[in-house]
Amino acid sequence: MAHSLTRRDFLKVSILTGATLIVGDRPPFLENAAYAAKEEFIGPLPDIDIGGLIRPPGALIEKKFRSKCISCGVCVSVCHVMKYDAIAVAGFNPPVSPLTKGEFKGGLGNFGTPYIKDMRDFPCALCMECPKHCPTGALKKIEKEKVTMGIALIDFSLCFGWNGDVCLSCSKACPMGAKIFDFYNGEWGNQPYINENCVGCGLCVKYCPLGGSAIKVVTKMQYEKVKLTYLNKFKGLLAMSNEERYNIVYGQNLPQIMARGRLVEREYR
Ligand code: SF4
Ligand code: SF4
Repeated sequence: MAHSLTRRDFLKVSILTGATLIVGDRPPFLENAAYAAKEEFIGPLPDIDIGGLIRPPGALIEKKFRSKCISCGVCVSVCHVMKYDAIAVAGFNPPVSPLTKGEFKGGLGNFGTPYIKDMRDFPCALCMECPKHCPTGALKKIEKEKVTMGIALIDFSLCFGWNGDVCLSCSKACPMGAKIFDFYNGEWGNQPYINENCVGCGLCVKYCPLGGSAIKVVTKMQYEKVKLTYLNKFKGLLAMSNEERYNIVYGQNLPQIMARGRLVEREYR
């Protein structure tokens, strides 16, 4: 049966066959508008610093949290017993994944303290068991809707939904429901935007089908720092044509996507 190459197929084939776009000739359909892609457009989120450690849910504000946390590891054990394994203990020089690089600020003050290490594989399930067992109150018992672990930012230059495909995996994975997501209607369906109601659990990071995830959770403090730029970039995105957005991924950002380490979409594994 005849099978036309979809845009997603094209990305997958390009990845698996070794970066035609990087070293080889450009496919004819990319020749025209492709390289007019706006270079100043937002880059892949792995380049954005998380801005500190993402603490377990219910953590007091950072300074108070650090003064109350006694590094007993109870939250780590509870999370392990719950089979989520989302919490790890910060060391002096812990291995950091490409998605968490740059987070170890504050030096010795973070040593032995708990944090959510790898949302790509182990996001917080918001079971809210760890605050119940924290012996010092460094993690406070709150409703999961009031959690403020961070905020998830979509890299629109990588997100399938914004670049020629129907996806919405993030919104389906989000335990918080519709209030977190705003949708923009485009040529190929609804395109997601995560708003400030996000609690930062990272479930969307895990279920984003793009290799390495097109979503990154940053601390609320970091969000305040990057917010203006992020929103301006988003406005720029809305002003682009569908073709321009598509060309950002296939004409500009494919090398970064390929460099992420986990290159193949989960659904194809
Ligand atoms: S709320 Fe549950 S899943 Fe999330 S960090 Fe605590 S124990 Fe782990
Ligand atoms: S948008 Fe992502 S990080 Fe935010 S609450 Fe939903 S799943 Fe969690």
